[in-house]
Amino acid sequence: MTDLDEYGRRARAWLEANASDLSPEPDLRTARAFMAKLYDAGYSGITWPAEYGGQGLSAAEERAFQQASRGFTLPIGVFGIGFGMCGPTLVSIGTEEQKRRYVRPLLRGEEIWCQMFSEPGAGSDVASLQTRAVRDGDAWVVNGQKVWTSVAKQADFGLLIARTDVDVPKHRGITMFIVDMHDPGVTVRPLRDMSGESHFNEIFLDDVRIPADRVVGEVNGGWSAAVTTLLHERVSIGMGATRTERPASFGPLAAAARERGTLGDPAVRDQLVELYIRERALDLFNARLAQELKAGIQPGARGSVSKLLLADLMLHGADVATEILGPDSAAHGEGDRQDDLIARTLAMAPGMALGGGTNEIMRNIIGDRVLGLPREPQVDRTVPFRDLKVGTQAKEAGA
Ligand SMILES: Cc1cc2nc3c(=O)[nH]c(=O)nc-3n(C[C@H](O)[C@H](O)[C@H](O)COP(=O)(O)OP(=O)(O)OC[C@H]3O[C@@H](n4cnc5c(N)ncnc54)[C@H](O)[C@@H]3O)c2cc1C
Repeated sequence: MTDLDEYGRRARAWLEANASDLSPEPDLRTARAFMAKLYDAGYSGITWPAEYGGQGLSAAEERAFQQASRGFTLPIGVFGIGFGMCGPTLVSIGTEEQKRRYVRPLLRGEEIWCQMFSEPGAGSDVASLQTRAVRDGDAWVVNGQKVWTSVAKQADFGLLIARTDVDVPKHRGITMFIVDMHDPGVTVRPLRDMSGESHFNEIFLDDVRIPADRVVGEVNGGWSAAVTTLLHERVSIGMGATRTERPASFGPLAAAARERGTLGDPAVRDQLVELYIRERALDLFNARLAQELKAGIQPGARGSVSKLLLADLMLHGADVATEILGPDSAAHGEGDRQDDLIARTLAMAPGMALGGGTNEIMRNIIGDRVLGLPREPQVDRTVPFRDLKVGTQAKEAGA
């Protein structure tokens, strides 16, 4: 048995002892307690730098752990933005003090993070954002509104991008900040989505004072900081598919068809095979990305391919689930965990084609940076932000 086999065997034994009967979305206290245990056992932040609280191990151990955790539904969803986006951004471009202060509590589940980029008037074109940050002594004062912010209600900290210079073109006057979500002036209001739950929120920022040492990256260099976060986001969402069990996927749906006696139906078989092919294609694509990451090659725009494949796969899985399960796919009996998971997946699938960048934007990026097609025309790249007709500026200008 190799060291890696032994590592995987020990991880599996630990999970069997500690994660066998956990609900995927338990109360916050249980989720935090699980994360602390996972960290203390050495299975949180496996590849993260040891000097900031990670395990400092390689992608091979990470993969061995992912394989060991197949079949377990770990209650880690609420930490996803911190692990997938905010943490990697801090490790890439944060100051030494920021890394020492924030990374370890994030990995141990002591502090939950959210990402405040989108605004009512700035989604796909997030560089049009209007939340303002104005320097005042040793702090910045922030005013504005963010929307669709996942897990903000539970979050302790968030990465915010705000406008710090209106006299330069829109991409050049943005700065990234760390916001303490418990600070005065931060109001979080949950938004209910069609699953009936509140996975995201709107946030109002009224005269929020942020100490100057909470700038991430350069002042007015927030666009490149945001791109760092978004690249991590796409890889994390797309590759997350390989790591997690999908309820509306080939295995559970083939079993459901067998149970209902429809597995012999050629139309059902055809749909299941198509689903299987798409799942394998995504897994193989992600395996290749993982190898490249291990070799130090940044995925760049190929993260968008992974994210787009996953969004399409989830919508297709939802369609197949609806065909096979009929009304059972939306309604579920009390205590029927598998049907409950499928019903949730159906309600969440359309959001996957929007969050982390829409399918259309992913296709634009792939066309431009992978296929080498001509870029979309951008007439506003050299115009000072204050002269643009965006968001409330458009209304003020009567546009
Ligand atoms: C589940 C979920 C979680 C989210 N979590 C977060 C979060 O934690 N933090 C955060 O900041 N945001 C979050 N978002 C917001 C998300 O990033 C935005 O919804 C997304 O960027 C799209 O912005 P928009 O909703 O304003 O749509 P718009 O940008 O207004 O787009 C509307 C439509 O126009 C299309 N479109 C726009 N521009 C182009 C173009 N140039 N070419 C072709 N088509 C185009 C879009 O594809 C879309 O179909 C989340 C969204 C969802 C659904």
